[in-house]
Amino acid sequence: MSKFWSPAVSELTPYIPGEQPRERLIKLNTNENPYPPAPGVGAVLREFPTDHLRLYPDPESRALRESLGRTFGVDADQVFVGNGSDEVLALAFQAFFRQERPLEMPDITYSFYPVYCRLYGVERRALPLNARWEVDLDAFDSDCGGVIFANPNAPTGHGHGREAIAGLLERITDSVVLVDEAYVDFGGESAVSLVERFPNLLVTGTFSKSRSLAGLRLGYAVGSRELIEGLTRVKNSFNSYPVDSLASAVAIATLEDTDHFEACREKVITTRERTRRQLESLGFEVLPSRANFVLVSHPDFDAAQLFVGLRERGILVRHFNTDALRNFLRITIGTDDEMDSLVETLELLCA
Ligand code: PMP
Repeated sequence: MSKFWSPAVSELTPYIPGEQPRERLIKLNTNENPYPPAPGVGAVLREFPTDHLRLYPDPESRALRESLGRTFGVDADQVFVGNGSDEVLALAFQAFFRQERPLEMPDITYSFYPVYCRLYGVERRALPLNARWEVDLDAFDSDCGGVIFANPNAPTGHGHGREAIAGLLERITDSVVLVDEAYVDFGGESAVSLVERFPNLLVTGTFSKSRSLAGLRLGYAVGSRELIEGLTRVKNSFNSYPVDSLASAVAIATLEDTDHFEACREKVITTRERTRRQLESLGFEVLPSRANFVLVSHPDFDAAQLFVGLRERGILVRHFNTDALRNFLRITIGTDDEMDSLVETLELLCA
């Protein structure tokens, strides 16, 4: 505790997203992609003119926003980019959610949303998931100060279809609905095509998962020009150079290689379904997932003990120390070999 910290900061504990191993471990704890980024990335890194690093990057990140615009079928003016979607989310909280009415979100969702509420003085109303552990879209109040949820949700993995999101947007028209699509490429349905119809819809996404670029910190938002301008106003107040030039060139190379993108995401989906069947045959309950992870529990074994047992045998997964999730492990989908090692180790631990 420090007398210099503001009250909101005093309440926070530093966020540690998951152990970064020093020794060689099988790392299935932070939802990274097990496959390398598109091959074109290597060429961009080798051929990038070093003299360009002398110059500040384009303050508007035009080339990357145009490339994202082509990918999503929208104008570059409807695209915003930032250093990781965490940064984009932080800006959205400041631009849209500091309202008199509370921001609504599911009670089990991405753990950063409550942190941003505290940091930016946003009142929060948490709504329980439904009996099937899905985000309950009907529970959001049309009179709220905004809505945020991840779709597919984290760490549960369930994803709503586009029509269900459209139904929510028919009802909630007076505040911003932010749909965080960090995991949408692993079998989810994107709401991006709805941004023309609903000016209050903001969809965020990341290059960290399906594009295998977590090390670069690149995220984006797609929405109406009105919402993109709102984000730009907040951004400009403290940092007018959004995304660095090298990261931007790398990101464009991954957007242009659709074959690599499709092959990697299909591989992850196939491995996820294989792993699900294997875990179920060991007696695990596996929540249906449209993401690159599964949330699992075992009726006879304690999740915290399984976490320790896996860790001792060189496999890192995620265990959340909250009441609702104490019995669960969240397991990122790795390569087939990695998942075979995971299943074999769990077989031993659950024998
Ligand atoms: N949203 C969700 C739901 C996430 O799980 C994550 C990553 N943990 C992020 C956003 C942030 O991703 P990044 O900052 O790497 O783009």
